[in-house]
Amino acid sequence: MQDKPVALVTGANQGIGLQIAKDLVARGFTVLVGSRDLARGKEAVKTIDGDAHLLQLDVTDKASIAAAAERVRNEFGRLDVLINNAAISHTGRMISVEEYAKSSRPSNVSLDEVRAVWETNVFGVLAVYQAMLPLLRGAPAARIVNVSSGVGSLTMNSDPAYPWRSIFGPVYPASKTALNALTVAMAIELEPTRIKVNAVSPGFTKTNLNNYAGTETVEEGAAEAVRVALLGPDGPTGTFTHAKLGKLPW
Ligand code: NAP
Repeated sequence: MQDKPVALVTGANQGIGLQIAKDLVARGFTVLVGSRDLARGKEAVKTIDGDAHLLQLDVTDKASIAAAAERVRNEFGRLDVLINNAAISHTGRMISVEEYAKSSRPSNVSLDEVRAVWETNVFGVLAVYQAMLPLLRGAPAARIVNVSSGVGSLTMNSDPAYPWRSIFGPVYPASKTALNALTVAMAIELEPTRIKVNAVSPGFTKTNLNNYAGTETVEEGAAEAVRVALLGPDGPTGTFTHAKLGKLPW
């Protein structure tokens, strides 16, 4: 029987997810390092000092999600924290932010591109939630953290002074708006339980997602997700927060 709490981080083979995994191991969790690619996942686990285990998990693949949930149940018997971190900003070759904004307007965006990004960032999160919820319900006080982004905030994008407003479009930014909506829906569903569901924004972090153009370190980017994963019984549910800015508007 597993005595230590268990955390699953999706997309943990690099970037912010890998750092969240390292931080949760350091806080005494057994951490399941979700990775869609086994080789990349193995390399990532080697860089973690402590109780980390590779879990093959492609959030767009039903069979992979079902097999992951089955393995967590059979091998670990519990799940206390789920960090929905896996996401993509686009498919295809890396392009500049300016090019991205130009090619992803509502008038000219490829619907296939919108579908592909939402498949990971929105439907993937919902599918993993559904598969892992029975395990989370069995934990004494489970936490779900959805790694969102300030660029998905409808309130901030409605302010002409918001610096990221020019990139707000149907692909990545709106996928994070939809993730925020899922967060509120999950929090409402789980209000009668001890499970808390919150969304966080890591800030503009130096990772593969933005071709390492970010200004924050992965340690800074991971901090809010880790804080919210460790909320005590009096902590909030249904919030959207950033480490330095505090509460963000939806
Ligand atoms: P990253 O380094 O590109 O990491 C993304 C992770 O998601 C990778 O491990 C990737 O796996 C994984 N992933 C992608 N598709 C997947 C799938 N279908 N199934 C499972 N895993 C999948 O980017 P990051 O910046 O650390 O992003 C982490 C989270 O922070 C994302 O939710 C992102 O939207 C959010 N965020 C980032 C920033 C930023 O400035 N970096 C800002 C705001 C929010 P592979 O290695 O196999 O591709």
